[in-house]
Amino acid sequence: MSKYDQYKKEVLACTQWLSEHGYFGALRGTGGNVSVRIEGEQAVAVTPSTLSYRDLSFADICIVDFDLKVIEGEYPPSVETGMHIAVYRNRLDVNAVVHTHQVKASVLSLINRPMPALYDEVALHTGDVVEIVPYALSGTPELIENVSAKLGNNCHCYILQNHGALNLGATLEKAWLNVELLEKSAETYIAALSTGREITPIPASISDLLVEIRKEAQDKLAAKNKELLEAQ
Ligand SMILES: [Zn+2]
Repeated sequence: MSKYDQYKKEVLACTQWLSEHGYFGALRGTGGNVSVRIEGEQAVAVTPSTLSYRDLSFADICIVDFDLKVIEGEYPPSVETGMHIAVYRNRLDVNAVVHTHQVKASVLSLINRPMPALYDEVALHTGDVVEIVPYALSGTPELIENVSAKLGNNCHCYILQNHGALNLGATLEKAWLNVELLEKSAETYIAALSTGREITPIPASISDLLVEIRKEAQDKLAAKNKELLEAQ
């Protein structure tokens, strides 16, 4: 038993569902990774590197501090752990990060076209734009730098050029939902683009209103996380 068991179980459930539903790109691969912030600590629960997600047990999920030191776990953490930690350092309104190789969003990663807010229920959760993060090799400081440079827009979904997607959330459940919302938006956006016709985003007034609604919840969580960390 460990005080981190609940976090590990949560990460495992999400990882296995996403893997089984094709969001990591290959059922037998180990692409994609999932993490959650440990409340009040400079640490995360994150999927291990190179292990098949089908065979994972919750005890295999790693606990890693913000300096990449392993606190618990037999296996090395995901090579993308640095990217996850960069999100938690930069965005106190985020408690979960899901990096996928989801197929439809990956198409956008090849045409390098940011996706505007297309549906109000999606924009409410994911933000008013899905930006493209310029390419850098997986697990490198360059990729971390490129991701960090985009986080200031306070959105919850990003496309990693020639790679996949990065989905954030106030909870793992919400980051997980954003994975699905991003995929739906990407699928319909690509189909709409293929018609060659003009694409209508939602009106700017609605998009601005949704940004305001999201901002209120984001500010609350950021303030709570700041307080918890300062209490340490
Ligand atoms: Zn990846």
